Parts: sequence; structure tokens; C-alpha cells
Amino acid sequence: MQNLFENAMAQLDKVAKLKNFEKEFIEALRHPDRDIRISIPVTLDDGSLKIFEGYRIEWNNALGPYKGGIRYHPLTDINEIKALAFLMMIKCAVTGIPMGGGKGGITVKPKNLSKGELERLSRGWVQKLVDNLGPYKDVPAPDVNTTPEIMSWMVDEYEKLTGEKSGACFTGKPLDRGGSEGRGPATGLGGYYVFHALRPHLAEDGLPQNCKVIVQGFGNVGSNVAEIFSAHGHIVMAVSDSKGGIYNENGLDIKKLIEYKKATGSLSGFEGAKDITNVELLETPCDLLIPAAFENVITEQNAPKLRAKAIMELANGPITPEADEILFKAGIPVIPDILANSGGVTVSYFEWDQNLKGEHWSEEEVNKKLKVILDDSSKKVYEKARELNTNLRNGAFILALERIKEKT
Ligand code: NAD
Repeated sequence: MQNLFENAMAQLDKVAKLKNFEKEFIEALRHPDRDIRISIPVTLDDGSLKIFEGYRIEWNNALGPYKGGIRYHPLTDINEIKALAFLMMIKCAVTGIPMGGGKGGITVKPKNLSKGELERLSRGWVQKLVDNLGPYKDVPAPDVNTTPEIMSWMVDEYEKLTGEKSGACFTGKPLDRGGSEGRGPATGLGGYYVFHALRPHLAEDGLPQNCKVIVQGFGNVGSNVAEIFSAHGHIVMAVSDSKGGIYNENGLDIKKLIEYKKATGSLSGFEGAKDITNVELLETPCDLLIPAAFENVITEQNAPKLRAKAIMELANGPITPEADEILFKAGIPVIPDILANSGGVTVSYFEWDQNLKGEHWSEEEVNKKLKVILDDSSKKVYEKARELNTNLRNGAFILALERIKEKT
């Protein structure tokens, strides 16, 4: 597995040369403001004590409070969290929201814990970090394996320890604890808005009105984006999860498929669809390929075999830098993660904003504001890439670095 952090730093070096940023500015951005590692003692249900390793990386707050999710995963380590914190800084700057970059995590397999143990662990993370957190300091959110319920335990612990009651210290909360309407589908919907803002520029001979779309991953992001594209007349031909994929060249009924997966726990055997592997899925010809599962799935090995007209990264870091070069040379445009999946953090920012103002916006209002921000950032990323005769990823990075530099 490639090191996400090294990939992120290589990308920083690449764009630093393209735009000639000062060495000192780039060197400062290579290091987090704070790299916090904590031990969290948790009494397990059998009365024994277990110590867990936790993290919070606060990368940069030039544009606003540190912002980024908390990941619970057995393979989570400091390098992964550092890379994701750095990318959050870039992503927030691409959208132009007043937030900086951070990320947190705990090395844990949450499925191995009871609900009570998980709650004590989550409260323990807040107890160790409470002095660093706060609506104007550092505002965490859910990420892989962390849920609105976990956020509500964390907010509760934070409020008990500090007396601060706005709820703006965490986002991704349940609706009845100050969460925002529209947060669930925000990343998928944001991807849809970004795709439509950029589609006139994605293929020389244009993309068809109803695109043939393939989605890897059928979790929060993948199932939502598949449903949204399908509801807008696109043909979602294939989707997959960790067990494999399914394919029907005339399109899958995504609403029915979501119900089917809920009922059976699997995509396999869905009526009218053929089972395929994840390898076959990525190599199937289509107008738009959307990797929405995890990092480093498109590499220098499989990039030459892809037959998509365009790719939109909804997962974080699904394309390695080597594969990115291959796709660029092959003329396959890539809408980068730092733009394409920024709908989630944008609605998180809306949640923070609503909490601080004591407001609650309708889903319609949230989606309208989301579209305005993503249309604008897509346009600016495209213009920046064109100005520098480079790809959209470099354009997005440079736009972000210019915004950070202005406030540094
Ligand atoms: P999730 O856990 O809900 O879903 C992940 C999906 O990927 C699941 O369907 C899983 O079965 C599938 N998967 C796992 N291994 C796979 C494999 N080998 N091949 C194919 N599919 C596989 O996670 P999510 O929230 O949907 O996040 C997906 C990606 O999007 C991650 O990279 C995440 O960091 C990124 N992301 C998520 C959000 C958000 O709002 N949830 C925002 C920005 C970025």
C-alpha cells in the first residue's frame, strides 16, 4: 500500500514548482501546527483495562478553526491521519469556507467493542483533547466508522467538561442534537453538482446527455451518489462493495438495490444484474467512473486498462500519483477528491454556522447554498487549471495554496 502522506507531499512539491511559491511558505506547510498523540484508558465490560492509541493532527488554521473527521480503524496510524489532515486543509481552501485542516483517529476495531466500551472510548478521546477543541479552535466530525451517535457522546462529554453549549464544537451530530439537514447525502450530492459544473469541459466531443456511470463502493458516499445520478437520468451500469460488484449495461434500479443490500447484506444476486469483480468493474467502458470506496485503487498497473471517458474521485486519494500521470497523458480528465468530495465538509461548515447562530436551515436551503459554493469552486478550479495549462488536481491545489498564502 502506498503511503498517503508521501503522496500528499509529492503533490505539494509538484504544484510548488508549477506556480513558483516561496520555499519558506511550502516548507511551513509540510509540517502540522500540532501533532497530538494520546493514550486512552478504557475499562472493558469484563472489568479489565485496555489502553488505546489516539490522535489529533491540527495542520493549519490560516483560514479558520481546524476541521476534520475522526477515524476509528485497526489500521489507522499517524501517517494516514497526517495525510488526511493536510488534505482537509487543502479541501477547505478549495471550497473557500472559513475552516482550516485537521484530522483525528483511534487505532481500534470498533466491531470488537460493546456499545458501552465504544462510548467510554469516545468520551476518553474528548477528555484527553478537550483543551485543544472548541468551536473557534478545532471542530471534529465523523469519518470512517464514526457515526452521529458517537458525535453526540463526544459533544455531551465536551459540554460537561467546558460548560460550552452551542453544539458547534463537533459536526455530523444527529438532527435532534443540532445536526444539519442534508449532511447524509452531502458528499454524493456535492459530487453531482461538481460533475455538472465541469461536464462541458470533460470530453472534447462532449459527454452524452445521459451518461453511463460506474461507482466503486456502496457505502454512504457510493450509494448516495449512485442514487442521485440515477434519479437525474444517468445510467448507473455497475456498482460494487468490498465483496464484489454487479453490472447491467441498461442500468441498475438503485433505489431497489439499496433495499436489496439492506435486506441481504450483499449486492450479489440482484435481479437482472451480472456479478463482476472489482477489477472488472474498474476496467469496464463507461462515460464516468466514480471511485467511492478507499485510497490507492487506481495505480500504474491498472490505469492503462481503464476505459472511462472521465473519472471523479469521491473517495479520498483513490488514484496514485503515478496513475494520475498516466491518465493525464491518456487524456482522461480526473475531477480530484479535494474538489469532488468537498460537499461533506461544506455541509459540516453549514452545521457549525447554524449552531453558532442558533438557526436550523431546511434541506432545500442547505442544498441551495451547497450548489452555490461548489459551482463557484468548480469554476475557479477549472480556470486555474486552464491558466496554468495543467490538470484539475494541480489547479485545485494551487487555488487552495493561493488562498492560504493570502491569510498567512
Ligand atoms: P463507508 O464505510 O460508508 O463505505 C465504504 C464502501 O466501500 C463500502 O460499501 C465498502 O463495502 C466499500 N469497499 C471497501 N473495500 C472495498 C473494495 N476493496 N472494493 C470495493 N469496495 C470496497 O465509507 P464512506 O463514508 O462512503 O466513504 C468512502 C470514501 O469516501 C472514503 O475514502 C472516505 O474517506 C471518502 N469520503 C467520505 C465522506 C463522507 O461524507 N462520508 C466525505 C469525503 C470523503
